[in-house]
Amino acid sequence: DLVKIKKALISVSDKTDLLVLAAALKDAGVQSVEVLSTGGTAKALKEAGLPVTDVSDYTGFPEMMDGRVKTLHPKVHGALLSIRNNPEHEKACKEHGIEYIDMLVVNLYPFQATVAKGADFDTCIENVDIGGPAMIRAASKNHPSVTVITSVTQYAKASSSSSWLVIEEMKQHDGCTTLKTRRSLAAAAYAHTAAYDAAISTWFAEQNQETPAVVTRAYDLAFPLKYGCNPHQLPANIYSMSGGALPFKVLNGKPGYINLLDALNSWALVKEAREALGLPAAASFKHVSPAGAAVAVPLSDVEKQAYEAPDNLSPAALAYLRARNADPMCSFGDWAALSDVVDEQTANYLKTEVSDGIIAPGYTPEALAILSQKKTGSFIVLEADPNFKNPAGEIDFREINGCVFAQRGHGDKLITPDMMKKNISTKNKDLPEGAVRDQVLATVAIKYTQSNSVGYAINGMMIGVGAGQQSRVDCVKLAGRKVTTWWMRQHPKVLGLQFKPDVKRQARVNARVRYIEGMAEMTDIERETWAQQFTTVPEPLTPADFEEHMKKLDGVVISSDAFFPFRDSIDTCIKYGVKYVAQPGGSVQDEGVTEACDQYGMVQCHHGMRLFHH
Ligand code: 5GP
Repeated sequence: DLVKIKKALISVSDKTDLLVLAAALKDAGVQSVEVLSTGGTAKALKEAGLPVTDVSDYTGFPEMMDGRVKTLHPKVHGALLSIRNNPEHEKACKEHGIEYIDMLVVNLYPFQATVAKGADFDTCIENVDIGGPAMIRAASKNHPSVTVITSVTQYAKASSSSSWLVIEEMKQHDGCTTLKTRRSLAAAAYAHTAAYDAAISTWFAEQNQETPAVVTRAYDLAFPLKYGCNPHQLPANIYSMSGGALPFKVLNGKPGYINLLDALNSWALVKEAREALGLPAAASFKHVSPAGAAVAVPLSDVEKQAYEAPDNLSPAALAYLRARNADPMCSFGDWAALSDVVDEQTANYLKTEVSDGIIAPGYTPEALAILSQKKTGSFIVLEADPNFKNPAGEIDFREINGCVFAQRGHGDKLITPDMMKKNISTKNKDLPEGAVRDQVLATVAIKYTQSNSVGYAINGMMIGVGAGQQSRVDCVKLAGRKVTTWWMRQHPKVLGLQFKPDVKRQARVNARVRYIEGMAEMTDIERETWAQQFTTVPEPLTPADFEEHMKKLDGVVISSDAFFPFRDSIDTCIKYGVKYVAQPGGSVQDEGVTEACDQYGMVQCHHGMRLFHH
């Protein structure tokens, strides 16, 4: 199984650690390895004083045609492909002066990086490597005799030890590699050339503006996940597009499948809200929909009390506190997202809440230290790359059960304040800036909410999100119930609830919600347990309490991810203080819906963009 490396051909575009590799090859065994090399690589090695033979000296042919032809020669390919100890192959080698090459080190022209830089068509084409993949495929085919290295990581310092992977093996085995290693390197090599060609074909089809009949995509394993949506869904992994990184880095913890879906969606939401409104934005996600989302708008005194807000919140902390307080019962164990760098105040506030993880573009060292200790060290902290662009282009692919869907992503179709102002369909056209802000926030929020969805907002925060309902009016009702709860949390009777000192934060949240839902709704046993949390048992909220308090709620925005098919949604949402409506429009019933808005004196914007999300 052991094959001694006597001669290596090195031809690399990325010259990282090249000299380290060449030096290591010199004393990896008893005798040093002879090195053949192409133009630029040979030059770098010679400059470092390392002995090297030019491939062109070996083949007797110069590199030509701007490097298009360097190694495409039978003396190279014969040396890589010939089967050792095969009489016929040996005879051919002798006849033609072919000398075995036992190791091939190649990394390819940086095609993907050239495309990513926005280079023109001809430059991209010139960065299609021809000789490199040909040699890699030849050497891999002949893996019983040839060791093929296609990436710096295969010989650069391994993170877990101070040794080089292949080099270390050669040192251990007197300058030889094992068959096991050569086979796994060959598998990696074919994946590498496949990914390279996949990138070229994707780019080519895009240039032609055509839908290719066959699409090849390649993914690089980023890391394995504990399991998929459920524990029985194994194996589960996350991959990046080949040649590109993930749009985030893991700074702490081990994210799971749903965590990562939450992270991607919530990050898109806060990034877009930040861009549209120019204020720090935050979101609190559960099951890939926001329970709340907000921008940094100052709190009223009553809100401070209702949200149990700490003093002197930074803008980022304020945004998250608002996001969390749309529906704090749902936000229990949430996924948090921040558009801005997370500071110590935000981290300290998060520390007091039960939460699974966070994504943000950065963290102060203090904030990172605080968050990394949360949940006995398992709190997940992800750093988003704000400049991330899918290296495979603008089409998102999704595989489901043997079918593959492709659609253009719509992250770049931004929700803007202008969109809300351009087509006001009601008689009342009085749309204050605060309402525009809330319309934008609500519309961005539902853009990243599972459909059907409807969201209510006021004062820069969502106050009710209805997600994943089959009928629109059900969304309106569901989210409306959340609005009632949110607003009744600011009722004097709720603010005045006297909790015993040992009742924890989330228990207080839940107890208030149950109180608002109605003591009469509780079973006798539940009421008894619930009442034990108070020093004085509260008086129930009466229908008159609700009526009087709900009347005071005004100026609320409602945004819907698709048109309202009937006026019933408008007749419903008026009960929750709605004054401003944002929806795409386009229903045969638009007129009837607009008439309903007019009857209630609402301002309605038809912004024209349907926002289903699945
Ligand atoms: P160097 O910097 O040594 O001049 O070139 C190294 C690069 O050339 C490597 O990325 C290698 O894959 C590529 N290469 C080697 N042989 C050929 C060839 O015959 N044609 C082309 N187009 N590229 C080659």
